[in-house]
Amino acid sequence: MIIAIDGPAGAGKSTIAKKLGEKMDYMYLDTGAIYRTITLYLCNKNIDIENKRILADSLSNIDMKYTMDHIYLNGKIVDDDIRTESISQKTSRYSSKSEIRVFAVEMQRNISLGENIVLEGRDIGTVVFPKADYKFYLTANEEVRGKRRYKDMLDKGMDTSLEEIINSIKERDFNDKNREISPLTKAKDAIEIDTTSMTIEEVVEKMIGYVKGGVNAI
Ligand code: C5P
Repeated sequence: MIIAIDGPAGAGKSTIAKKLGEKMDYMYLDTGAIYRTITLYLCNKNIDIENKRILADSLSNIDMKYTMDHIYLNGKIVDDDIRTESISQKTSRYSSKSEIRVFAVEMQRNISLGENIVLEGRDIGTVVFPKADYKFYLTANEEVRGKRRYKDMLDKGMDTSLEEIINSIKERDFNDKNREISPLTKAKDAIEIDTTSMTIEEVVEKMIGYVKGGVNAI
């Protein structure tokens, strides 16, 4: 069974998808972490992403591994390295490249093969698994999303300001919604949940209600 969760930055997707996966005993895949790790790799190697041949060559040599606990690049855990503001911004630009998207989508489909899995990202219900069993689209107002992301960054000991985070979220949403390939958009048959004034638990319970009730479209 495939559960797809999409939505803009800071809508709570990662935490919610992880909790939902735990409660249902499903695997959980944070697809943003894949795009972030690819971006980190290409930045570290100074790859010119406008050069299609060099980009394709580099992608064929990437050594990355996703597990439920960590993401590895060249055998090293990069969980924190991929969460910096700089990588967030760059990822939003890099992920508009078709070579990168094809590579990342194939990886997501391979990981999901034969699994009961919750995937979260921007294009899961529209492109990666258009026939997912359940599709959710999570939203929240910009200020709340900014505050959530800001708290995450502070918890990780990163130095930033709320204003900087809100601006960054707006910019990323704009890029993600307006790119040519696989833009962020709600799938027609996705259930939309506005998480602005809901707790994580409430959102997860609501989703489980839909899944248990067998409701897969509005
Ligand atoms: O979800 P997260 O904020 O970690 O994603 C980082 C970036 O990766 C997004 O801003 C988006 O540009 C890209 N992304 C994507 N498609 C996905 C998941 C993430 O383009 N399925």
